[in-house]
Amino acid sequence: MKFADIPGLQTIKDLLKQSVRSGHIPHAQLFAGAPGCAALPLALAWSTYLHCTQRNDDACGMCAACSKSLKYIHPDTHFAFPAPSPKSGEEEKTRAENLKAWRSFLLEQPFGMPEEWIASLNSEDKQLSISREDSRKIIQALTLKPFESESKVMLIWCPERMHPSAANALLKILEEPPPQTFFILISYAADNLLPTILSRTQHVQVPLLTDEELSDYLRKVRPQANINEVVRLADGNLNLALRLLDEEENTHHQNLAEWLRSCYKRDYSRLVQLAEAFHEMDRMNQHLFLKYGLSILRESVIARSGAISLHRVRDQELEFVRNFSGVFSIPALEKAVKLLNQADYHLERNGSAKMIFMDLSIQLGEIMQNHHRT
Ligand SMILES: [Zn+2]
Repeated sequence: MKFADIPGLQTIKDLLKQSVRSGHIPHAQLFAGAPGCAALPLALAWSTYLHCTQRNDDACGMCAACSKSLKYIHPDTHFAFPAPSPKSGEEEKTRAENLKAWRSFLLEQPFGMPEEWIASLNSEDKQLSISREDSRKIIQALTLKPFESESKVMLIWCPERMHPSAANALLKILEEPPPQTFFILISYAADNLLPTILSRTQHVQVPLLTDEELSDYLRKVRPQANINEVVRLADGNLNLALRLLDEEENTHHQNLAEWLRSCYKRDYSRLVQLAEAFHEMDRMNQHLFLKYGLSILRESVIARSGAISLHRVRDQELEFVRNFSGVFSIPALEKAVKLLNQADYHLERNGSAKMIFMDLSIQLGEIMQNHHRT
């Protein structure tokens, strides 16, 4: 994570960079804010910046330190986070598994909250905590000299979930921190922290995003999505906004899959129902649905040519695209793309949505039947 990967929050970013450049870094900071704020990404970007050997306005992203920081494997950045407690005798194994899962979580959902972290673990143990043993290990590591960098960073995510004995150990080390060791506590419930911890940390209040910052960012990362409604609902919570968009995409995906299957089977009674449902959608959603259909058709063309772009297709879609590309030849896919574009154009000119959709369904069904590769 680099500062540039986080939308908005310019003032805080400037302050954090300034503290590194001037060398006046508080040895313990608390990044606190409401759920959905970018406190964790900021802490990650800060540690990348601190370790970077060619930093400028941001971490360079290229040096050896950055390449490790960006994968969350820099040996001088330590993490404490709530995790499932190990079965006895399997402590080391569990700790290694937890750390691996944590790195994947940071890579896949950098704006995720504790709920997403817990969900990603598929663990039966939902009462995650930062155990005494985990803290002991970390504190032990901090007493060593840095491995590669000039400083060590200790990021503690959700310190309010620390086991009391772990909190006491932390307090002790905060009183007498080892040299060149910087702590960042990241909390969405700072009110629940021990007053003694609060008094030993410098507070950085992380606000939620403004609607403008949120919509700028979403427009960049999800150019095909209908973001206005999501921005209104999310109220500055980036994590929530991304989850809402995922849900919307899932619904589109399910509808699209059913529709194309019905076209292929020429199930006219189902197609009439689907055309009625389509008719009921507002114009924006009709447009987005067709656009989503187009993106899947395009992926299918790519899949047919043998190069699946894994980056753009999610797992469930990938499976669908693979199966689906089998019933279309490339010229047929191109024809289908043209038909979807035409339908969108006719809708734009206020044609009857039901008629346009039905007509499109019949034509797609014909294409699929005629060009079936068997
Ligand atoms: Zn760098």
